[in-house]
Amino acid sequence: MHSDIIDFCTKNALEARLGESLCEHTTMKVGGSCPLLVCVSESEILKELIVLMNKYSVRYFILGRGSNILVPDEGFDGVVIKLTGSLAGIDCDGCEITAGAGASLKSLCMAAYDNSLCGLEFAYGIPGSVGGALFMNAGAYGGQMSDVVESALCLENGEIKTLTAEEMSLSYRRSIFMQKRDIIILSVTVKLKIGDKSEIKSKMDELMQRRRDKQPLEYPSAGSMFKRPEGSYASLLIEQCGLKGLSTGGAQVSLKHSGFVINAGGASFADIIALTDEVKRIVKEKTGYLLELEPEILK
Ligand SMILES: Cc1cc2nc3c(=O)[nH]c(=O)nc-3n(C[C@H](O)[C@H](O)[C@H](O)COP(=O)(O)OP(=O)(O)OC[C@H]3O[C@@H](n4cnc5c(N)ncnc54)[C@H](O)[C@@H]3O)c2cc1C
Repeated sequence: MHSDIIDFCTKNALEARLGESLCEHTTMKVGGSCPLLVCVSESEILKELIVLMNKYSVRYFILGRGSNILVPDEGFDGVVIKLTGSLAGIDCDGCEITAGAGASLKSLCMAAYDNSLCGLEFAYGIPGSVGGALFMNAGAYGGQMSDVVESALCLENGEIKTLTAEEMSLSYRRSIFMQKRDIIILSVTVKLKIGDKSEIKSKMDELMQRRRDKQPLEYPSAGSMFKRPEGSYASLLIEQCGLKGLSTGGAQVSLKHSGFVINAGGASFADIIALTDEVKRIVKEKTGYLLELEPEILK
């Protein structure tokens, strides 16, 4: 790692970890390390750090809660950035809540509940960050981020600017951030409605219970392993092909929810890819559907 980047971290008292294993930074709990992981808590410092990395052609990756990411066994050859401090804070103003991109979606949902604001209940239980949720327009149980997002503060080409919801091209699990990988989401403002606190709580609890009943939350996973193919459901196709419980090394098609691949213990990235390749091959052969991985591979 270039010494100027290390010096920059030291000078700005950033939490910087050399040779950090990324395994514990993802919900699937597989993968190798990166030469440097740095936690950044202020927009201006982030801006300077990006300039420095661009100057030395150092690759970087903004990591949220790692719940939609698979890290290869050989790791990532660049700087991994996590947003903390003021970039993970939450501020409520009337019916609007602004959350730092590094805040957990759960804490945003709790802030909405605390302030008797409804509209975000669907997101309770999605284990991502606010930035990661906007990045992929996360959604569940009939709701998605685009239903509530007003605007986002972003860093692009060295400039901090506000994007309106329309400018983010949000559609089913898609956003502009997937195409323009150089935009970093700094904070997100959602607009909610005044609601009844006990109704909000019971909706959140009900949806969480549905997750506990249906999803293998007791094991590490990256959530749904395959995108929903047009005209069907990945979990249905996998089940129809009799692939529940199929395993490779420590990776297994969940017995509880066939759309999930779990780390049943000691799985490697290679195990997961070997298993998902096999699932894709059999599903294609038996049903004609071509399944695609939902989580992103950190390359
Ligand atoms: C048990 C389980 C259940 C899940 N259920 C759901 C569900 O119901 N619905 C759903 O939609 N998803 C679900 N997911 C998937 C996942 O939680 C979501 O996709 C979530 O939005 C990912 O957020 P993250 O912070 O973990 O992002 P990460 O996995 O850390 O990153 C994902 C992508 O977002 C980018 N990113 C993150 N932060 C920023 C930022 N500040 N600026 C720019 N880019 C950024 C990363 O660079 C990366 O490309 C589930 C996952 C698990 C493990």
